Amino acid sequence: SYLKEIHRYLLTYESIKLPERKKNSHKYTYGHLLVVGGSVGKTGAVIMASRSATASGSGLVTAVVPGSLDQVFENALTEEMTIPVDDIDGYFGKKAYRQIKEIIKNGKFTSVVAGMGMSVTENCISVIDQLLKGKMPLVIDADGINNLVLVDNFKEKLKKRKHPTVLTPHIGEMSRLTGLKTKEILDSMEETALSFSKETGSFVILKGSRTVISTPDGKVYYSIKGNEGMATAGTGDILSGITGTLVFRLGAEEGVKTAVYLHGLSGDLAVKETGVESMKATDLIRFIPEAYREIK
Ligand code: AMP
Ligand code: MG
Repeated sequence: SYLKEIHRYLLTYESIKLPERKKNSHKYTYGHLLVVGGSVGKTGAVIMASRSATASGSGLVTAVVPGSLDQVFENALTEEMTIPVDDIDGYFGKKAYRQIKEIIKNGKFTSVVAGMGMSVTENCISVIDQLLKGKMPLVIDADGINNLVLVDNFKEKLKKRKHPTVLTPHIGEMSRLTGLKTKEILDSMEETALSFSKETGSFVILKGSRTVISTPDGKVYYSIKGNEGMATAGTGDILSGITGTLVFRLGAEEGVKTAVYLHGLSGDLAVKETGVESMKATDLIRFIPEAYREIK
């Protein structure tokens, strides 16, 4: 292995920054995150990402969702807003990407997180293609990544972006992004993430029992926080909500580092209450406040 040749830094509480709040401020000071995702049967992914974003310090959060599902989101989300867009049978419809373009043009959003539970469809490919043109930090997770790989020339489009892009694949999604087999990725997490970052100018959070972060300028961080209780549905959606918030609050590089650390620590605190078998993704959201307190 040529692992030794890559300089990588362990994330510790000393190496991460916390967002700051000032007395003289208002909610817009802390950003307005746009969350794009959801489809029939997978509304929970957007709900968890949105609630995690609020819990990790976004001033405002708005979820853009397939219109026929709006009531589900309205019921589950209290502090977060929703914008229903064109829908076909519980999936984003043909006009969704143009509506999202207008929503972004007319709103004052500070970052976007896209993909959770959106499914893979032609219309979702158009949505992701549209979001790549946006002029603010963009986090792409889950089905967002599965659609991204079907966008024509997606690597060139990533490279051309003038604003930070963060991709948050687990090993399977990284396999689709790179064409590598999952075993090859597991054997070379650092190399795989780093070469994709360099090739596309994107930040990569490559998630697993160990998580690796790579930056476009060639830095690699890794985190050993978190536990096997987190191997359960939805924990990745929590990370994307936190990441969407913190890339605005701290900038892309500090944002991804703190998001990964805070997410892992929330899991480590939650597991003391729930145990590894009974932990649910939403338990992590409840422990974000304690994780913040512990880092301070
Ligand atoms: P996803 O597969 O997108 O739902 O993401 C799962 C999240 O849980 C990622 O942040 C992983 O790093 C984390 N995770 C899953 N399994 C483990 C594990 N065995 N140890 C630590 N973290 C884990
Ligand atoms: Mg996921």
